[in-house]
Amino acid sequence: MLHNQSFLRTPGPTPIPQQVTHAMNQPMIGHRSQSFAQLFKGTSERLKPIFGTEQPVYTLTSSGTGALEAAVLNVTKPGDEIISVVAGAFGDRFASICEHHQLVTHRIEVPWGESVDQQELISTLHAHPNAKAVVMTYNETSTGVMQPIQELTKIVHDHSYALALVDGVSCIGAVPAQMDEWGIDILVTGSQKAMMLPPGLAFISASERAWDVIEQVDSSSFYFDLKAYHKQYENGMTPYTPAVSLIQGLKEVCTMLEEETLEKVYKRHVVMKDMTRAAFRALGLPLLTSDQDASPTVTAVKATEGLKVDEFRNHVRDRYGLSLAGGQKKLKGEIFRVGHMGYCSPIDVLTTLSIIEMGLVDCGISIELGAGVKAAQEVYINDVSNSSK
Ligand SMILES: *Cc1c(COP(=O)(O)O)cnc(C)c1O
Repeated sequence: MLHNQSFLRTPGPTPIPQQVTHAMNQPMIGHRSQSFAQLFKGTSERLKPIFGTEQPVYTLTSSGTGALEAAVLNVTKPGDEIISVVAGAFGDRFASICEHHQLVTHRIEVPWGESVDQQELISTLHAHPNAKAVVMTYNETSTGVMQPIQELTKIVHDHSYALALVDGVSCIGAVPAQMDEWGIDILVTGSQKAMMLPPGLAFISASERAWDVIEQVDSSSFYFDLKAYHKQYENGMTPYTPAVSLIQGLKEVCTMLEEETLEKVYKRHVVMKDMTRAAFRALGLPLLTSDQDASPTVTAVKATEGLKVDEFRNHVRDRYGLSLAGGQKKLKGEIFRVGHMGYCSPIDVLTTLSIIEMGLVDCGISIELGAGVKAAQEVYINDVSNSSK
């Protein structure tokens, strides 16, 4: 095997396009220079359509979790009530951030692999009319469920005065987001999932309604106080030293997304999801989620009879260079997850599926080699003939 050839199909981090790597290798520039201001004004502006907002999108130097914490700490103070939709490990993390900061957190525990029951959300909103915010995960990476965030946000506003805070980390840039139109109050994402960048940046934007609250709250975080980011935003700068190289890469990412067009980027992810699901169905491996809940960026597959998922993952990594993710927390050992987001094409999906088939055979699972790939090819061929490419 070529030792440097590897296939990173975890749902974060994800592969980096070569032109982005090149852009990140440019000489360093000072973050108080005019060149930086010009670069940063450009990338900040170009993030807006990806978020679906006219509001500023702030770039933080942190992983996604930092921006989740920023979202919470800028609109609450200890003792405030929060409603938290927990549909998996990342919903649990968002709730844990709230609990860590002494917020009274009412968790809606959703069975892992499903999206929240809308009636239950409504009744929880009515039960806690003082809730300051509802925290929700758009795409629950640990289960491969994409929640209907537009509907959920509407429910929050129809039934409460709470702000809707949304973790969009593993899907923004790969699926539609209309923050303003849908009424999302704070939307967050990270660099290393669908945004085709290395880990290290997070992006966050807040609605006018959220800003009314932010201005009243004395953020308990110094580093993540959004007021400081806003103050520097108009100058094309950040309050503290930003990850300049990643922002140089981000400029290239914006160009790639614009050249493909967001509409086609979103379509590509749906096709990759449909290909992946068709393949596992053809192979007889059970999927964790329903078609309706299925995420366009990550697919969770249940361990079929006799398959030790973690041994299987180690095997495909060592033998074929394919990295897959396992289950997290209560799904550990129960599922494996295939990422198909960011710098990933339908052709990459075919490669991934064919490696998975070989790995299954190597691990003694009886499947027909090629059956999954064939099902995925059929999905792709039909899509190609349907679209006017
Ligand atoms: C990856 C991810 C995060 C953030 O994780 P970091 O490791 O802090 O970048 C948050 N939410 C979701 C849904 C994620 O997929």
